[in-house]
Amino acid sequence: ERMMEIRRQNCNPMTMKVTYYKKPVYIHQGHMQWLWDVDGRRYLDLFAGVATVSVGHCHPKVTAAAEKQLRKLWHTTNIYVYSPLHEYTEKLAATLPDPLKVIYLTNSGSEANDLAMLMARLHTGNFDVITLRGSYHGGSPHTMGLTSNAAYKYPVASGLGCHNTMCPDVFAGPWGGSNCRDSPIQTIRDCSCPQGSCTANDKYIGQLNEVFATSVPSRIAAFFAEPIMGVGGAVQYPKNFLKDTYKLVRERGGVCIADEVQTGFGRTGSHFWGFQGHDVIPDIVTMAKGIANGFPMGAVVTTPEIAASFAKGVHFNTFGGNPVACAIASSVLDTMEEDGTQQISHNVGTYLLTELAKMRDKYEIIGDVRGKGLQIGVEMVKDKASRKPLPPAAMSEIFEDTKDMGVLIGKGGVYGQTFRIKPPMCITRDDADFFLAVFNQALHNYME
Ligand code: PMP
Repeated sequence: ERMMEIRRQNCNPMTMKVTYYKKPVYIHQGHMQWLWDVDGRRYLDLFAGVATVSVGHCHPKVTAAAEKQLRKLWHTTNIYVYSPLHEYTEKLAATLPDPLKVIYLTNSGSEANDLAMLMARLHTGNFDVITLRGSYHGGSPHTMGLTSNAAYKYPVASGLGCHNTMCPDVFAGPWGGSNCRDSPIQTIRDCSCPQGSCTANDKYIGQLNEVFATSVPSRIAAFFAEPIMGVGGAVQYPKNFLKDTYKLVRERGGVCIADEVQTGFGRTGSHFWGFQGHDVIPDIVTMAKGIANGFPMGAVVTTPEIAASFAKGVHFNTFGGNPVACAIASSVLDTMEEDGTQQISHNVGTYLLTELAKMRDKYEIIGDVRGKGLQIGVEMVKDKASRKPLPPAAMSEIFEDTKDMGVLIGKGGVYGQTFRIKPPMCITRDDADFFLAVFNQALHNYME
């Protein structure tokens, strides 16, 4: 272990952080929802490589599809015609509503969002992009501009230093959310007010109008939002927020982009795509992570009309649509259907949310439990009255204790105050019970 630790430090950058820094986990192998370390200790994986291992680690069916394709053809680039590519894009298109039928394949979520932003600008002729406070949309220079979460931003890279005409004017607005120290935690939860009477929504739409008023409304190219925020800490919006925002953005000539990098492929349980839970159809959808169960891949899906604005030249991506990636992603879609992953996400996710809400009522330091399906956030606070984030040292203590008892979870939120649960979508109710017992014990240990 010591040797692994030293070697990890040898050639790797300081920006690459090991999550359990008190005692890192040395992963050796995985199967479905389980991971094993080099000493043979088993962990229940409730973070799935950041919501990425969608159907299970080394899922036998997907592994077999990968092996088959690896023996046949690794790579040619899409300047040639090969069946894994069009077989996959047809299958993926079938999961999306009309008119979202034109698919560009990339290798990551950041690349997909970069491309979406470029398309939106070419299509509208505008440059400004609106994103939400607390959002994360990627680590490339362009998407770092879209990302509002300060932990991931570098002042030089963000906004490309404004040296050229492609410089994004990005407004991180109008969101207060749970990540704002002063705002009540409850304001961002999916509220159940009758349609049209939601005051929280009025407030945020008001803030959006302020953004329009203080920026240059005629220059809006796009509005980017995740259906439920991921890295931001499973932040949900008031009912109709996305619907109303889409309308306002479109009225100003902008296009609406749903970043489904985390929420796609059934993760929210009730729908295959997160946007379907908001009763909207975006103009562009971006996806990655769960698309290929951990094999690097991403995609942008748009309408024929927007695609036509992006057709003057060649768009080339060496690895985009790689035959192995397509064969894997295709098998992932089949596996999702056969294994009923979306249903599992709904059933086990709803159970977890119900049980965690009971724990919220029991523990003073659980401020909020939210999310949908297997996209869950547990926001930790100093106490319910102050609603101040639980400090990092306390978060770490609970986090490391949970790991020592055999469960891996994630952390997020602007202050690192939200535990994130996004397991492979093959977990069982027994696994959920195991986690609940472990988490309960970790909270109990901390409170003592
Ligand atoms: N969008 C969202 C919502 C994400 O969560 C992430 C990654 N955490 C990205 C985009 C960027 O994806 P990638 O790391 O594959 O570039």
